[in-house]
Amino acid sequence: MDKRVAVIGAGPSGLAQLRAFQSAASKGADIPEIVCFEKQANWGGLWNYTWRTGLDQYGEPVHGSMYRYLWSNGPKEGLEFADYSFEEHFGKQIASYPPRAVLFDYIEGRVNKAGVRDWIRFETVVRLVTWDEKTRKFTVTVQDLPNDHCYSEEFDNVIVASGHFSTPNVPEFPGFDRFNGRILHAHDFRDAREFIGKDILIVGTSYSAEDIGSQCWKYGAKSITNCYRTAPMGFDWPENWEERPLLERVDINTATFKDGSTKRIDAIILCTGYKHHFPFLTDDLRLRTANRLATADLYKGVAYVHNPALFYVGMQDQWFTFNMFDAQAWWARDVILGRIKIPADKKELVADVEARVAGEDAGQDSYDAIRYQGDYVKELIAETDYPSFDVDGANEAFFQWKKHKQKGIMEFRNHSYRSVITGTMAPPHHTPWKDALDDSLESYLGIEETPAAAE
Ligand SMILES: Cc1cc2nc3c(=O)[nH]c(=O)nc-3n(C[C@H](O)[C@H](O)[C@H](O)COP(=O)(O)OP(=O)(O)OC[C@H]3O[C@@H](n4cnc5c(N)ncnc54)[C@H](O)[C@@H]3O)c2cc1C
Repeated sequence: MDKRVAVIGAGPSGLAQLRAFQSAASKGADIPEIVCFEKQANWGGLWNYTWRTGLDQYGEPVHGSMYRYLWSNGPKEGLEFADYSFEEHFGKQIASYPPRAVLFDYIEGRVNKAGVRDWIRFETVVRLVTWDEKTRKFTVTVQDLPNDHCYSEEFDNVIVASGHFSTPNVPEFPGFDRFNGRILHAHDFRDAREFIGKDILIVGTSYSAEDIGSQCWKYGAKSITNCYRTAPMGFDWPENWEERPLLERVDINTATFKDGSTKRIDAIILCTGYKHHFPFLTDDLRLRTANRLATADLYKGVAYVHNPALFYVGMQDQWFTFNMFDAQAWWARDVILGRIKIPADKKELVADVEARVAGEDAGQDSYDAIRYQGDYVKELIAETDYPSFDVDGANEAFFQWKKHKQKGIMEFRNHSYRSVITGTMAPPHHTPWKDALDDSLESYLGIEETPAAAE
């Protein structure tokens, strides 16, 4: 096919896109030339752990927001690839909440099998994408970082898969400039052991707040206090964890909250979210959206309404992750291959977005939100040859997960769920999460004894 497609990013979304094209090619389809630009030295996106924070060795903002000892915060049965099960990868069924290294291995297994690594130009950061209305082509300007060389190439389509949990939203509170301790955003959190014996203040109620607080608790922080703007998380926390109204100010080592109460603290971790940030896109191409299930300006949640030659994969807030990225990638692929037609009338594209926003807004609670995103996944996979799977069963795993969190926030990861791809039940993990200090793949899979991480 006489077409060129640029994919920006080789995280789970970008890799889904590569696998989608490779899958079509393996069934005899004539596919375009695919070029994936990835600024890191390896694939896996956020799952490719780095100890670095701030800027990398080339002066680029560090992409990674993950930390040591991170275990999946939802059941793996909700994210399993429909074309590559955990059992296929590991040769057996594994427990339901794998640590980061195990999920990285799984993500990598599928693309190794697909043989798409050669399509990726690593350590190559996308600097600028422009669109020429006359030629109807994109010009993508990149920098080859090790060789410090910039160049531009033309493409018929661009797929943005650069993620949206890397550019931190960092608020300021009065007194931060006089605080006698460390203040960091979740993006820069790497190792809970830094906070052993410390009184930690966590600002926010996001997944990061819940999980970073839990890590600090697990590895020996003295106390956790988290503060909320609208409502507490409300879990049955351990006795050295409390929730307070929002922080008002900090004075040396004392935090004062909106209700006038105070607490002595040693460190502040801002779990205050991330921004969709696309510094490489011109105004006419740049997605501007809140972090929600129905994004702004994306037809079917994927094609940019103002220029449907441009696609965004993985830009939604996420219950479903890897298999939703797959559903989107297969759909974008089929538009590019001419198997799916996007309506020519922009009004229809805008109406689709409006209907999605209204559908999300009509939901009452997080159970509705899970169903809503599950329905979205079903809708997309019905339009392509992505292997159909029991999305309702995956919803059910999420429902169970939410109930297990209510029952015991430090125990929910000890539960097991049934795979909706293979139908087999996950075994219980050999060690309760709170006692499992070694997050290595070998330890999780019980391959060999490894020294305890706390040593
Ligand atoms: C702390 C944390 C914990 C999480 N835990 C879970 C979990 O337990 N389970 C789960 O399912 N999901 C989890 N997620 C959600 C996560 O968003 C997805 O799992 C997944 O990583 C998203 O994939 P992605 O490819 O869209 O984005 P990313 O993983 O962010 O990958 C984007 C890629 O694009 C590259 N890139 C960015 N800009 C450029 C550029 N200009 N040029 C070239 N390359 C570029 C990056 O280097 C990166 O490799 C978590 C997220 C965070 C932040």
